[in-house]
Amino acid sequence: MKHLLLCLAIAAALPAQAQEQALARIAAQPAVKQALAYIEKNEPLTQKNMLAINAIPAPTFAEAARARDYEQRLKAAGLADVHIDEAGNVLGFWRGSGKGPTVVLAAHLDTVYPAATDLTVREKDGRLYAPGIADNGRSLAAMLAIAQALSDAKVQTEGDVLFVANVGEEGLGDLKGVKHLFRQRKDIKAFVGLEPALGTHGDPVTYMGAGSRRFKVTIHGPGGHSYESFGLPSAVHAAGRVIARIDDVRVPAQPKVTFNVGVVQGGQSVNSISAEASLLIDIRSADAALLAKVEQQIKDAIQQGVNDTNQRWNSKAISADVALIGDRPAGKMAEDAVIVRTALAAAKVQGRPALLDAAHSTDANLPMSLGVPAVTMSGGGTSGGYHSEKLEWWAPQNAHTGPQNAMLTVLGLVGVRGLDAPLAK
Ligand SMILES: [Zn+2]
Repeated sequence: MKHLLLCLAIAAALPAQAQEQALARIAAQPAVKQALAYIEKNEPLTQKNMLAINAIPAPTFAEAARARDYEQRLKAAGLADVHIDEAGNVLGFWRGSGKGPTVVLAAHLDTVYPAATDLTVREKDGRLYAPGIADNGRSLAAMLAIAQALSDAKVQTEGDVLFVANVGEEGLGDLKGVKHLFRQRKDIKAFVGLEPALGTHGDPVTYMGAGSRRFKVTIHGPGGHSYESFGLPSAVHAAGRVIARIDDVRVPAQPKVTFNVGVVQGGQSVNSISAEASLLIDIRSADAALLAKVEQQIKDAIQQGVNDTNQRWNSKAISADVALIGDRPAGKMAEDAVIVRTALAAAKVQGRPALLDAAHSTDANLPMSLGVPAVTMSGGGTSGGYHSEKLEWWAPQNAHTGPQNAMLTVLGLVGVRGLDAPLAK
């Protein structure tokens, strides 16, 4: 009776402990128990898979070889309808009864490292060093372990778990893979992404997505000889004024919003008045309105810098084009959103610390911005030095807890047959 009442209560606002109670029941169910034990027992296999997956180069826009390899791994793990979509994402299903929601479990395939990067693993002081080993080699192996565990224990779910190894998360990939996924499918009710856990303490849950807008500013001028044509305005000088104007923009400390001119290029020779200069600019915040406001301030600053230069040289010859080269929407879940509570409860019911993380920019940004509940969870282990060829590392402390927490979260969201109704609506 108590059971039935709880099922009926799911649709209403849930009390704080409801997710914990539901997940405790799921964790105690025999097949799920077996799946959790499978993940712990097979952690050495997960690490072997991590090394094998990470040995295949997968720079953003060139993930195909790793995708084909991962497709075979998901098939061997027993998922249904495993295939590669038009964007290059690898998809596979753990099929439920057909009476529950579709929930995505995702890990990105791509790395920031060019194809020629040496991916050899070095071991030092208990850490494994290799480009991409944590971000996102570990998460891909963790996701595979979850598929294998569900399959080994024959866990019966209500909804489908859609496993996605997606392309284009990093840099100018601009979330290409998940953007395609959400354009194609309107049935996704929740999204759990896997990324490395920053630092050395537990498996934090990320529920805020820092959005970013990136621009290439190209400044044009007339050019000319530095001596003969002196008096004409220079694009490089204008770039200096533009950067100074951008540098003067003031932003609040909270909510956090940042801006950066990361790359400056321009000029032909020491004795030429430059005809062209360009800047790459990154603006970030988890607050979408603030992000838009600062973007406008930066655009105004660019125009002011151009005007300053024309005024100084009594000219109209300097102009600037601003091109959008990156657009990651900002998004944010409420701290008490069902998916956030479910992810925290997964750690809690297994006797682990429930940790919330600061804002990050991940695939989960996109579903958050579309109003689809999303979190990013840890692939397990400890790690650091991301995006740095010589410094990226991963270490196996309690590595199995990441995939265990993520699997339990996903099972709570899709629902396990015979237990509480799915937590994802
Ligand atoms: Zn990543």
